[in-house]
Amino acid sequence: MSPRPDLGPKPRLGYAASSIERAAERRADAAALAALESDPRARAYVVAGELVALKKATALADPLFTLAEARALGRTAARDEFLVTDLRSIAVRGLVEAEHLPPLAEGKALLNWHGRHRFCPNCGAATNLVEAGWRRDCPSCRAQHFPRTDPVVIMLAVAGERCVLGRSYRFQPGMWSCLAGFVEPGEAIEDAVRRETREEAGIVCGRVSYFASQPWPFPTSLMIGCHAEALSREIIIDRAELDDARWFDREEVASMLLRCHPDGLSTPPTMAIAYHIIRAWVEEEVSFDS
Ligand SMILES: [Zn+2]
Repeated sequence: MSPRPDLGPKPRLGYAASSIERAAERRADAAALAALESDPRARAYVVAGELVALKKATALADPLFTLAEARALGRTAARDEFLVTDLRSIAVRGLVEAEHLPPLAEGKALLNWHGRHRFCPNCGAATNLVEAGWRRDCPSCRAQHFPRTDPVVIMLAVAGERCVLGRSYRFQPGMWSCLAGFVEPGEAIEDAVRRETREEAGIVCGRVSYFASQPWPFPTSLMIGCHAEALSREIIIDRAELDDARWFDREEVASMLLRCHPDGLSTPPTMAIAYHIIRAWVEEEVSFDS
Protein backbone atom coordinates (compact mmCIF):
# COMPACT_ATOMS: atom_id res chain seq x y z
CA MET A 1 0.00 0.00 0.00
CA SER A 2 1.35 3.44 -0.92
CA PRO A 3 1.94 5.99 1.87
CA ARG A 4 -0.99 8.18 2.76
CA PRO A 5 -0.80 11.33 0.56
CA ASP A 6 -0.62 14.78 2.12
CA LEU A 7 -3.56 16.70 0.69
CA GLY A 8 -3.11 19.76 2.89
CA PRO A 9 -5.67 21.37 5.22
CA LYS A 10 -9.26 20.24 4.75
CA PRO A 11 -11.26 22.93 2.90
CA ARG A 12 -14.73 23.96 4.02
CA LEU A 13 -17.80 22.34 2.52
CA GLY A 14 -19.89 24.93 0.65
CA TYR A 15 -23.48 25.83 1.69
CA ALA A 16 -23.23 23.77 4.92
CA ALA A 17 -22.93 24.73 8.62
CA SER A 18 -25.18 27.79 8.63
CA SER A 19 -24.78 30.29 11.45
CA ILE A 20 -28.30 31.68 10.88
CA GLU A 21 -30.71 31.16 13.80
CA ARG A 22 -33.83 29.71 12.18
CA ALA A 23 -36.04 30.66 15.16
CA ALA A 24 -39.04 28.60 13.99
CA GLU A 25 -40.95 29.50 17.15
CA ARG A 26 -40.99 33.20 16.16
CA ARG A 27 -42.09 32.85 12.56
CA ALA A 28 -45.77 33.46 13.34
CA ASP A 29 -45.02 36.35 15.72
CA ALA A 30 -45.94 39.45 13.67
CA ALA A 31 -44.61 41.88 16.31
CA ALA A 32 -41.24 40.11 16.47
CA LEU A 33 -40.97 40.09 12.67
CA ALA A 34 -41.85 43.79 12.46
CA ALA A 35 -39.23 44.60 15.11
CA LEU A 36 -36.57 42.70 13.17
CA GLU A 37 -37.54 44.44 9.94
CA SER A 38 -37.32 47.91 11.50
CA ASP A 39 -34.00 47.19 13.22
CA PRO A 40 -31.35 49.39 11.55
CA ARG A 41 -28.94 46.45 11.69
CA ALA A 42 -31.24 44.32 9.47
CA ARG A 43 -29.63 43.16 6.21
CA ALA A 44 -30.93 41.29 3.19
CA TYR A 45 -29.52 38.99 0.55
CA VAL A 46 -30.81 39.74 -2.95
CA VAL A 47 -31.62 36.61 -4.97
CA ALA A 48 -33.46 36.41 -8.31
CA GLY A 49 -33.88 32.90 -9.66
CA GLU A 50 -30.39 31.52 -10.30
CA LEU A 51 -28.75 34.90 -9.76
CA VAL A 52 -27.44 36.71 -6.69
CA ALA A 53 -26.61 40.43 -6.50
CA LEU A 54 -23.30 41.30 -4.83
CA LYS A 55 -21.70 44.65 -4.08
CA LYS A 56 -18.26 44.87 -5.61
CA ALA A 57 -15.50 45.50 -3.09
CA THR A 58 -11.70 45.59 -3.13
CA ALA A 59 -11.28 42.01 -1.89
CA LEU A 60 -14.33 39.77 -1.55
CA ALA A 61 -17.76 40.95 -2.73
CA ASP A 62 -20.39 41.94 -0.16
CA PRO A 63 -23.74 40.15 -0.51
CA LEU A 64 -25.55 42.13 2.22
CA PHE A 65 -27.89 45.06 1.50
CA THR A 66 -29.84 47.22 3.89
CA LEU A 67 -33.57 46.66 3.45
CA ALA A 68 -33.89 50.13 1.92
CA GLU A 69 -31.09 49.36 -0.56
CA ALA A 70 -32.68 46.03 -1.45
CA ARG A 71 -36.10 47.59 -2.03
CA ALA A 72 -34.61 50.38 -4.14
CA LEU A 73 -32.74 47.94 -6.39
CA GLY A 74 -35.71 47.11 -8.58
CA ARG A 75 -34.38 46.36 -12.06
CA THR A 76 -31.24 48.46 -11.63
CA ALA A 77 -28.91 45.67 -10.44
CA ALA A 78 -26.91 45.85 -13.67
CA ARG A 79 -25.16 48.98 -12.48
CA ASP A 80 -21.37 48.93 -12.35
CA GLU A 81 -21.11 48.74 -8.56
CA PHE A 82 -22.88 45.36 -8.57
CA LEU A 83 -21.79 41.91 -9.61
CA VAL A 84 -24.75 39.70 -10.55
CA THR A 85 -23.86 36.04 -10.91
CA ASP A 86 -25.06 32.53 -10.06
CA LEU A 87 -24.65 30.89 -6.68
CA ARG A 88 -22.58 27.98 -8.01
CA SER A 89 -19.97 30.39 -9.41
CA ILE A 90 -20.00 32.37 -6.17
CA ALA A 91 -19.14 29.21 -4.21
CA VAL A 92 -16.62 27.74 -6.66
CA ARG A 93 -14.78 31.03 -7.18
CA GLY A 94 -14.97 32.04 -3.50
CA LEU A 95 -16.46 35.44 -4.32
CA VAL A 96 -17.90 36.03 -0.82
CA GLU A 97 -16.95 35.06 2.74
CA ALA A 98 -17.80 31.36 3.25
CA GLU A 99 -20.27 32.23 6.04
CA HIS A 100 -22.63 33.75 3.45
CA LEU A 101 -23.00 30.56 1.38
CA PRO A 102 -25.45 28.71 3.71
CA PRO A 103 -27.98 31.59 3.99
CA LEU A 104 -27.71 32.25 0.24
CA ALA A 105 -28.43 28.56 -0.41
CA GLU A 106 -31.34 28.66 2.04
CA GLY A 107 -32.81 31.77 0.43
CA LYS A 108 -32.41 30.54 -3.13
CA ALA A 109 -34.03 27.16 -2.38
CA LEU A 110 -36.88 28.75 -0.42
CA LEU A 111 -37.62 31.32 -3.14
CA ASN A 112 -37.61 28.56 -5.75
CA TRP A 113 -40.21 26.67 -3.69
CA HIS A 114 -42.41 29.78 -3.38
CA GLY A 115 -42.21 30.32 -7.12
CA ARG A 116 -43.51 26.81 -7.76
CA HIS A 117 -46.21 26.74 -5.07
CA ARG A 118 -48.26 29.85 -5.74
CA PHE A 119 -51.23 27.56 -6.34
CA CYS A 120 -52.47 24.75 -4.13
CA PRO A 121 -51.42 21.34 -5.49
CA ASN A 122 -54.50 19.93 -3.76
CA CYS A 123 -57.28 22.14 -5.21
CA GLY A 124 -55.66 24.73 -7.48
CA ALA A 125 -56.59 27.86 -5.46
CA ALA A 126 -54.01 30.64 -4.96
CA THR A 127 -52.04 30.08 -1.74
CA ASN A 128 -50.96 32.64 0.89
CA LEU A 129 -47.47 33.06 2.34
CA VAL A 130 -47.45 32.63 6.16
CA GLU A 131 -44.96 31.83 8.95
CA ALA A 132 -42.40 34.35 7.66
CA GLY A 133 -42.22 32.48 4.36
CA TRP A 134 -41.87 28.99 5.82
CA ARG A 135 -45.39 27.82 4.93
CA ARG A 136 -48.07 28.48 2.32
CA ASP A 137 -51.73 28.02 3.23
CA CYS A 138 -54.64 27.34 0.93
CA PRO A 139 -57.69 29.49 1.85
CA SER A 140 -59.99 27.18 -0.12
CA CYS A 141 -59.26 23.62 1.09
CA ARG A 142 -57.23 24.64 4.19
CA ALA A 143 -54.20 22.58 3.14
CA GLN A 144 -50.87 23.70 4.57
CA HIS A 145 -47.80 23.44 2.33
CA PHE A 146 -44.23 23.32 3.64
CA PRO A 147 -40.97 24.00 1.81
CA ARG A 148 -39.53 20.79 0.45
CA THR A 149 -36.07 19.37 0.03
CA ASP A 150 -35.27 16.63 -2.47
CA PRO A 151 -32.84 13.98 -1.14
CA VAL A 152 -30.07 12.91 -3.51
CA VAL A 153 -27.56 10.17 -2.75
CA ILE A 154 -24.00 10.84 -3.88
CA MET A 155 -21.59 7.99 -3.36
CA LEU A 156 -18.17 6.53 -3.97
CA ALA A 157 -18.09 2.80 -4.60
CA VAL A 158 -14.77 1.41 -3.38
CA ALA A 159 -12.92 -1.90 -3.40
CA GLY A 160 -9.54 -2.04 -1.66
CA GLU A 161 -7.18 0.39 -3.40
CA ARG A 162 -9.66 1.33 -6.14
CA CYS A 163 -12.82 3.38 -6.50
CA VAL A 164 -15.36 4.07 -9.25
CA LEU A 165 -15.65 7.59 -10.66
CA GLY A 166 -17.95 8.72 -13.43
CA ARG A 167 -18.36 11.57 -15.85
CA SER A 168 -21.68 13.26 -16.55
CA TYR A 169 -22.16 14.71 -20.05
CA ARG A 170 -22.42 18.20 -18.54
CA PHE A 171 -19.02 18.03 -16.75
CA GLN A 172 -16.16 20.17 -17.93
CA PRO A 173 -13.44 18.19 -19.78
CA GLY A 174 -11.24 16.10 -17.48
CA MET A 175 -13.51 16.22 -14.41
CA TRP A 176 -14.57 12.97 -12.75
CA SER A 177 -16.82 12.63 -9.74
CA CYS A 178 -18.95 10.40 -7.52
CA LEU A 179 -22.09 8.83 -8.94
CA ALA A 180 -25.36 10.38 -7.74
CA GLY A 181 -29.12 10.17 -8.07
CA PHE A 182 -32.43 11.06 -6.45
CA VAL A 183 -33.80 8.94 -3.62
CA GLU A 184 -37.15 7.53 -4.74
CA PRO A 185 -40.33 7.41 -2.63
CA GLY A 186 -40.32 4.47 -0.26
CA GLU A 187 -36.57 3.98 -0.58
CA ALA A 188 -33.94 3.97 2.17
CA ILE A 189 -30.71 5.92 1.61
CA GLU A 190 -28.66 2.70 1.56
CA ASP A 191 -30.97 1.13 -1.03
CA ALA A 192 -30.81 4.27 -3.20
CA VAL A 193 -26.98 4.14 -3.08
CA ARG A 194 -26.98 0.49 -4.19
CA ARG A 195 -29.64 1.03 -6.89
CA GLU A 196 -28.03 4.12 -8.43
CA THR A 197 -24.54 2.55 -8.49
CA ARG A 198 -25.93 -0.53 -10.19
CA GLU A 199 -28.08 1.45 -12.66
CA GLU A 200 -25.38 3.91 -13.70
CA ALA A 201 -22.23 1.77 -13.60
CA GLY A 202 -23.41 -1.83 -13.27
CA ILE A 203 -21.56 -2.23 -9.98
CA VAL A 204 -23.20 -4.30 -7.25
CA CYS A 205 -22.63 -2.83 -3.76
CA GLY A 206 -22.92 -4.29 -0.29
CA ARG A 207 -22.38 -2.26 2.85
CA VAL A 208 -23.00 1.50 2.76
CA SER A 209 -21.44 4.01 5.12
CA TYR A 210 -22.88 7.51 5.64
CA PHE A 211 -20.30 10.30 5.38
CA ALA A 212 -21.90 13.78 5.48
CA SER A 213 -24.61 15.85 3.80
CA GLN A 214 -24.70 19.15 1.91
CA PRO A 215 -27.57 21.47 1.01
CA TRP A 216 -27.46 21.82 -2.79
CA PRO A 217 -29.78 24.63 -3.90
CA PHE A 218 -30.01 23.66 -7.61
CA PRO A 219 -32.85 23.94 -7.08
CA THR A 220 -33.75 22.31 -3.74
CA SER A 221 -31.65 19.22 -3.13
CA LEU A 222 -29.96 17.75 -0.12
CA MET A 223 -26.89 15.74 -1.10
CA ILE A 224 -26.42 12.70 1.16
CA GLY A 225 -22.80 11.60 0.88
CA CYS A 226 -21.91 7.91 1.31
CA HIS A 227 -19.23 5.33 0.63
CA ALA A 228 -20.28 1.94 -0.68
CA GLU A 229 -18.49 -1.39 -0.68
CA ALA A 230 -18.29 -2.63 -4.28
CA LEU A 231 -18.91 -6.39 -4.55
CA SER A 232 -18.54 -6.68 -8.33
CA ARG A 233 -15.87 -5.30 -10.67
CA GLU A 234 -17.27 -5.14 -14.20
CA ILE A 235 -18.45 -1.66 -15.17
CA ILE A 236 -21.50 -1.43 -17.44
CA ILE A 237 -22.17 2.24 -18.22
CA ASP A 238 -25.68 3.62 -18.60
CA ARG A 239 -24.98 5.94 -21.53
CA ALA A 240 -28.24 7.80 -20.98
CA GLU A 241 -26.83 9.00 -17.63
CA LEU A 242 -23.05 8.90 -17.94
CA ASP A 243 -20.46 9.85 -20.53
CA ASP A 244 -17.97 7.50 -18.89
CA ALA A 245 -17.14 5.57 -15.71
CA ARG A 246 -14.10 3.55 -14.70
CA TRP A 247 -11.99 2.32 -11.81
CA PHE A 248 -9.27 4.63 -10.46
CA ASP A 249 -6.55 3.69 -8.00
CA ARG A 250 -5.89 5.67 -4.85
CA GLU A 251 -2.66 7.22 -6.08
CA GLU A 252 -4.24 8.51 -9.29
CA VAL A 253 -7.19 9.98 -7.39
CA ALA A 254 -4.79 11.72 -4.98
CA SER A 255 -3.14 13.44 -7.97
CA MET A 256 -6.59 14.52 -9.20
CA LEU A 257 -7.42 16.02 -5.79
CA LEU A 258 -4.09 17.84 -5.84
CA ARG A 259 -4.68 19.05 -9.43
CA CYS A 260 -1.39 17.49 -10.60
CA HIS A 261 -2.67 14.57 -12.68
CA PRO A 262 -0.38 14.08 -15.75
CA ASP A 263 -3.40 14.09 -18.13
CA GLY A 264 -5.11 17.02 -16.34
CA LEU A 265 -7.89 14.90 -14.82
CA SER A 266 -9.49 16.41 -11.73
CA THR A 267 -12.13 15.95 -9.07
CA PRO A 268 -14.94 18.48 -8.37
CA PRO A 269 -14.07 21.76 -6.58
CA THR A 270 -13.39 21.76 -2.85
CA MET A 271 -16.75 23.36 -1.99
CA ALA A 272 -18.62 20.27 -3.32
CA ILE A 273 -19.33 17.26 -1.13
CA ALA A 274 -17.99 14.97 -3.88
CA TYR A 275 -14.49 16.34 -3.24
CA HIS A 276 -14.82 15.53 0.47
CA ILE A 277 -16.27 12.03 -0.11
CA ILE A 278 -13.41 11.19 -2.48
CA ARG A 279 -10.77 12.75 -0.24
CA ALA A 280 -11.95 10.82 2.85
CA TRP A 281 -11.41 7.57 0.96
CA VAL A 282 -7.97 8.66 -0.32
CA GLU A 283 -7.05 9.56 3.27
CA GLU A 284 -8.27 6.13 4.43
CA GLU A 285 -10.97 7.49 6.68
CA VAL A 286 -13.69 5.16 5.38
CA SER A 287 -14.92 2.25 7.45
CA PHE A 288 -17.85 -0.11 6.87
CA ASP A 289 -17.62 -1.67 10.33
CA SER A 290 -19.62 0.80 12.40
ZN1 LIG B 1 -56.25 23.95 -1.69
